[in-house]
Amino acid sequence: MSYDSNNIFAKILRGEVPCHKVYEDEHTLAFMDVMPQADGHTLVIPKMSSRNLLDAEPKALGSLMTSVHKVANAVKQAFGADGMLIQQFNEAAAGQTVFHLHVHVLPRHEGRPLRPHTGRMADHAVLAQHAERIRAALGAGAE
Ligand code: AMP
Repeated sequence: MSYDSNNIFAKILRGEVPCHKVYEDEHTLAFMDVMPQADGHTLVIPKMSSRNLLDAEPKALGSLMTSVHKVANAVKQAFGADGMLIQQFNEAAAGQTVFHLHVHVLPRHEGRPLRPHTGRMADHAVLAQHAERIRAALGAGAE
């Protein structure tokens, strides 16, 4: 299957759809998931187009994981997480719903279950606040 440049993350990258941005560099963008499975649930995407990991240019993966590493440490600090879940789905059969490669960064707390995948839309004011907490942790050098 081929890449469809009308997917929602491609639109976010082109600035056609807004997002709560937490981090951006030359090769990647990180923003809040609008249906967070946990407070602080963040997505990290490459700017280079691919449906998922399977058709990605291997050269896009180094910068992607570097950003995941940076953002995961910031989210862990911002949300006082006990652990971090890093998740990535490939094709619908594996749970993928948006077909531009993305990595889920999820803070986990002992004994606190995750909310459902693509469950309820979060309040935008809350997402904005959460993004600010993560940006502050990044600014303080959490990585
Ligand atoms: P996946 O099932 O791995 O493809 O996950 C796609 C994720 O994108 C889900 O967790 C959705 O909640 C999230 N999502 C969908 N639309 C948006 C959007 N416009 N901004 C941020 N996150 C989104």
